[in-house]
Amino acid sequence: FSCEELTRHYLERIQRLDTAYNSFISVTADAALARARAADAERAAGTAAPLCGIPIAHKDIFCTRGQRTSCGSKMLDNFVPPYNAKVIDNFDNAGCVSLGKTNMDEFAMGSSNENSFYGPVKNPWATDSVPGGSSGGSAACVAARLAPAATATDTGGSIRQPASHCGVTGLKPTYGRVSRWGMIAFASSLDQGGIITRTAEDAALLLAVMAGFDARDSTSVERPVPDYTEHLSDSIEGLKIGVPAEYFGAGLDAGVGAAVEAAIEQYEALGAQIKTISLPHSNLAVPAYYVIAPAECSANLSRFDGVRYGYRCDNPKDLADLYKRSRGEGFGAEVKRRILVGTYALSAGYYDAYYNKAQQVRRLIKQDFVTAFTEVDVVLGPTAPAPAFRFGAKSDDPVAMYLEDIYTTPVNLAGLPGLSLPCGQVAGKPVGLQLIGNYFEEARLLNIAHQFQ
Ligand code: GLN
Repeated sequence: FSCEELTRHYLERIQRLDTAYNSFISVTADAALARARAADAERAAGTAAPLCGIPIAHKDIFCTRGQRTSCGSKMLDNFVPPYNAKVIDNFDNAGCVSLGKTNMDEFAMGSSNENSFYGPVKNPWATDSVPGGSSGGSAACVAARLAPAATATDTGGSIRQPASHCGVTGLKPTYGRVSRWGMIAFASSLDQGGIITRTAEDAALLLAVMAGFDARDSTSVERPVPDYTEHLSDSIEGLKIGVPAEYFGAGLDAGVGAAVEAAIEQYEALGAQIKTISLPHSNLAVPAYYVIAPAECSANLSRFDGVRYGYRCDNPKDLADLYKRSRGEGFGAEVKRRILVGTYALSAGYYDAYYNKAQQVRRLIKQDFVTAFTEVDVVLGPTAPAPAFRFGAKSDDPVAMYLEDIYTTPVNLAGLPGLSLPCGQVAGKPVGLQLIGNYFEEARLLNIAHQFQ
């Protein structure tokens, strides 16, 4: 079939099914079809790049030139960027066909997609339940086969946790592997772009396009991009898998625990050696993350002032009124909560007690992993403590919502790569298995995920 037929297939599914899931904020059908026809011409001429004509959806946090980029917020509902994110350029240059932009929690703050200005995304496996967040639209559209793959971002779990809840594969690369240029900033020392796909093989193909050095991102790492597909089929005989005792304590759903145990047995049968390890500071990751991420967000979101970008209130009396009402009307409740927590933690008199302390804890968490990787090749555990919960179940309790991120935030605080792959179900809802690798060991994670049956 042609690239145009392939694109039409997905556009038709989006049109027919996404009224139920709400996984897209914008669908760019005309541009997609034009790009697909160009891809067919390139294929006929023999000039096509390997991924030429492959449809993809992009999280609405990546700036797209001439196309609205909302970040799930009223603040940017009318924002049309004049430039592309590096990630978007990379996929465009590889010949991919963008289907549109996916729904997300406002400014990527959330674990359920209930914080989107455009309404929640429904989990395709159980539409009374959340898809996870913040990349809920990207995970749900891949799960519902509305797109073969979608870009996403992960600051504290936003690729892995929605992938887990939607039964798809989500890869958060090492911090610095994928350029943050043009990716709207939440917490810059934690934010990392990545990919949600059906399989590890698809993730390997797409990461190769997405990754790479970019001088415009000061934390981008200059290091060659390997062929991530090369080792997919390697045997994992003798591989040392570390299972952290702290990831199986109280708070883990019994069904999720059983699915992860079954996965461990399967890896043992494939010849891996399983070793119980300790990540002693794991329980401090959520409190440290929920100081550091809001602190950075309060600084990053100061740019949305009603003057330079996005929403501006009607008839401001003076400049102070313009700032106050534009921000007051443009941001949702969770974003405001984070800005308040962040400015408090950074204020004189509290900085040492909160922000500095959280940074010290962050170093201890990283050190736990550095020590673990002297003993094992990879760390394995659950991605999320329980399967997808029902809408509203945690909306009034931010701490319960934040505890969704208990197994994912340590990975961001340490800057390591993490991958979630489907490993079973509990009462018809998917369970995700998390693999955590040493720095730049994405290929190893993809290999281990690919070996899972
Ligand atoms: N759920 C976490 C938060 O709300 C992580 C979000 C993310 O990774 N973008 O901050």
